[in-house]
Amino acid sequence: MTKGCAIVTGASRGIGAAIAAELSKLGFDIVVNYSRSEEKARSVLDEIKKIGGNGEIFKCDVSQRSEVDEMTSFALNKYGEISVLVNNAGIAQQKLFTDITSEDWNKMVSVNLNGVFNCCQSVLPSMIHFKRGRIINISSVWGTEGASCEVHYSAVKAGIIGLSKALAKEVAPSGITVNCIAPGCIMTDMLTHDFSEETLRSLADETPVGRLGTPQDVARAAAFLAGEGADFITGQVLGVDGGFR
Ligand code: NAP
Repeated sequence: MTKGCAIVTGASRGIGAAIAAELSKLGFDIVVNYSRSEEKARSVLDEIKKIGGNGEIFKCDVSQRSEVDEMTSFALNKYGEISVLVNNAGIAQQKLFTDITSEDWNKMVSVNLNGVFNCCQSVLPSMIHFKRGRIINISSVWGTEGASCEVHYSAVKAGIIGLSKALAKEVAPSGITVNCIAPGCIMTDMLTHDFSEETLRSLADETPVGRLGTPQDVARAAAFLAGEGADFITGQVLGVDGGFR
């Protein structure tokens, strides 16, 4: 019998791709969401199939509610149940606070925070119907600590934590857990695009375990929160940061 599906937003690259592969090993069919990188999303799905998993790719901009609702309908029609939602899609931007434009701010809120709202609200009626479900929201160490030159990013990542803690209380009686993962510095396009080799080395030095994280480090935490051992864990923020904070 199928375990239902897991929707992983922003699964075409980086952390989302690793989470998709890891959840597939737990037996979930995977909806590999992407916004632009169709080829990469296809490769992620190919890799999942090579290890015996199953799924589909689905293009949707999480900031657009109508597109999110289409993804939810697609998943329900295809797999019958959405067992896990991982809100991972995200963007980052380095700017002095005084240089952040209204457009920068609105885009950050729209993808990183409205995206989480859209996806949670879209899938919840079905999870409530089945009286079970796991929602895992990818925040950031900057959402708990704040980062210089990333005020808008830090603000929305803190917002995801507030949303998750409150929603966890509201949907717990329906058998649904809502947790956050707060990754530290993880080697993906997001990090290498924004930081020089030298900055990456100093971030690794600042990390007590002495290295940057990998997407798999975060994926294993997501698999734990999606798995049977995490039934009684909700409203939590799990740091995957090598001791960074
Ligand atoms: P990444 O390599 O830049 O990948 C970002 C992913 O998000 C891509 O799959 C991208 O899809 C997708 N995406 C972007 N905008 C989207 C939208 N509007 N709708 C749907 N998908 C969208 O980033 P990452 O490092 O893996 O980050 C994943 C998550 O972890 C993000 O929420 C990020 O804030 C968080 N995080 C990362 C780090 C880190 O150090 N890397 C640390 C803490 C938290 P396309 O490829 O189609 O554009």
